[in-house]
Amino acid sequence: MTGAGTAGNGNDGHGAEHRRAEISEGIAAVRKRIAAACAAAGRDEREITLIAVTKTFPASDVRLLAGLGLTEVGENRDQEARPKAAECADLPLTWHFVGRLQTNKARAVAGYADVVHSVDRVRLARALSEAADRAGRTIRCLVQVSLDEAASPQEQGRGGASPGDVPELADAIAGAAGLELGGVMAVAPLGADPLPAFTRLAAVAARVRGNHPGARIVSAGMSGDLEQAIACGATHLRVGTALLGGRRAIVR
Ligand SMILES: *Cc1c(COP(=O)(O)O)cnc(C)c1O
Repeated sequence: MTGAGTAGNGNDGHGAEHRRAEISEGIAAVRKRIAAACAAAGRDEREITLIAVTKTFPASDVRLLAGLGLTEVGENRDQEARPKAAECADLPLTWHFVGRLQTNKARAVAGYADVVHSVDRVRLARALSEAADRAGRTIRCLVQVSLDEAASPQEQGRGGASPGDVPELADAIAGAAGLELGGVMAVAPLGADPLPAFTRLAAVAARVRGNHPGARIVSAGMSGDLEQAIACGATHLRVGTALLGGRRAIVR
């Protein structure tokens, strides 16, 4: 399914050329899947933004992606994202922060992130607002929605506001200095059919758009479920493995 192999090739020209070819194949394979899913759903491919999730992969891969025309980049940990963004400061990239975010990291992330997908509480929105305002930046924020019906977000450990709390959080973001409300984001529950979950997300997204017509982003779909996400109205896909190959496990 994936066109790319494992990362970590040497920096010699031959290794870089090989890696470039791998990533190019990964992009072609994912674009083909997107095209097929859009055709099946009667959607226009141009409605879809593909974000390359580059966590665990080196800055050299980000550079190759940019050279191949993929300039939307996603990361999930500040300690990894910050130096990578600095190394790639000369490239015309849009940085998406997609991971759980502690309030005390808000200021650091506000220094480089253009879009934060994981805003799941008012306290975090306030911290991002203060940091963005101070840095003279505008950060687009998405409300992360928990799609797990059984466990509370704390229990499931994946983050996300309960659907019932989303409107209030969306209002808080929309009214905050330095922030712009972009829409919603979700990760499908592990081991469950993603379709009903993404269908619930679509309903939450429609509700948010009812109050904030400009908040049109629906960030959903990863390597394993991008077809279902597109069927349910996703506008932004966050794809790692299918573009870049397997990641080594991170011990937390
Ligand atoms: C890692 C990650 C992705 C990409 O996952 P793949 O299965 O490798 O495509 C997407 N979204 C979030 C929040 C992630 O942490």
